[in-house]
Amino acid sequence: MKAFVSQGQITKVVFGSGTRSRLADEVDALGCRRALVLCAPGQVAQAAEVFDLLGTRAVAVFAEAAPHTPVEVSEKAVEYARSLRADCLIAVGGGSTIGLGKAIAARTGLPQLGLPTTYAGSEMTPILGETEGRGKTTRRLPEVLLKTVVYDVELTLTYPPAASGVSGLNAMAHAVEALYAQHQDPVAFLMAGESLDALAASLPVIAERPDDLPARAGALYGAWLAGSCLGMVGMALHHKVCHVLGGTFGLPHAETHAVVLPHAVGHNAPAAPEAMARITRALPGPDAATSLFEFAGRLGAPTSLRELGMPESGIEEAAELVVRDGYWNPRPVEKSAVRALLTTAWAGDRPVASPASESVAPSTSGATHV
Ligand code: NAD
Repeated sequence: MKAFVSQGQITKVVFGSGTRSRLADEVDALGCRRALVLCAPGQVAQAAEVFDLLGTRAVAVFAEAAPHTPVEVSEKAVEYARSLRADCLIAVGGGSTIGLGKAIAARTGLPQLGLPTTYAGSEMTPILGETEGRGKTTRRLPEVLLKTVVYDVELTLTYPPAASGVSGLNAMAHAVEALYAQHQDPVAFLMAGESLDALAASLPVIAERPDDLPARAGALYGAWLAGSCLGMVGMALHHKVCHVLGGTFGLPHAETHAVVLPHAVGHNAPAAPEAMARITRALPGPDAATSLFEFAGRLGAPTSLRELGMPESGIEEAAELVVRDGYWNPRPVEKSAVRALLTTAWAGDRPVASPASESVAPSTSGATHV
């Protein structure tokens, strides 16, 4: 048995169908009385229902959460929270809304509760990504970790099937990179494998029957595990590539993860045989990269960066940015390999699965990508 360090989580999790009815008790348990409910403009109806469930414990709804957590929205929300003397935040939504709650928490110290409605997993991580102008920064701040997460499967029923598929693949990307993370945490490995099993079983059912409650429960369970892995261990090449593509070309978050994952796995395969074996246990096939590519196709997810709006001329710049900052990856990351990976992903071609027998040492650059 290898020695290890395991980073446990302190977030309380309540999981089930109809669990939003328990939210008021969870607010009481934190000793809070004046909750500010957060949501994106398209989710006002869900937030209003949560507001009503809270009775006198809720003071207002702030419905301006936006992708990539723009600093100006967060500062406006902070002022609003202060003017209302809010004593806690309740995020009803996906990663954008939970990100807004984290940004407010980072500036005010207010505790946050979350009711996730997508599979992005941000609710289980201490990671805060923010944008100012065209620049995006990402930090790990233990103080923004949510106090309580109430997973209510019913809140995900309205998430459209196409968006659910790519969001589920976004969750799978967290689990996949946890399997070969630098800090080999056996608990994270177990959770990541279980997450892949749950998502592999549930996402194709959701694509056919979006209102299938057991499948929705399976996907949310898998997303919880994947988000927990993202919070516990550092990510690698796949997340770095997606971060660069999102920040530089404004590509949509979950769709970018869906397209890039098989190609990043193809690159890392020779250096991570145990991870590859676990992926193919969840998704049987000739190799992990091909399995993931075909699975995304079954879900009807986009398969090329071209269809997401990335210009072909951007491949060189992206490859440069991906290798510019050092970060840990199980296999060395050379610019020519990244360029080749991006070219294949841009065109939507099948991933190139490197032979498992190739002997490789990890990249030694130190920091891991969040
Ligand atoms: P999102 O929160 O932007 O939601 C996408 C769209 O779907 C929005 O219009 C939203 O209103 C709508 N929507 C969400 N749930 C719905 C539902 N149940 N029914 C109907 N509509 C619904 O998307 P996301 O993919 O969840 O989050 C992406 C953002 O989260 C990115 O900015 C990403 O960087 C961030 N993120 C952060 C972390 C982290 O740990 N910090 C992890 C993952 C993602």
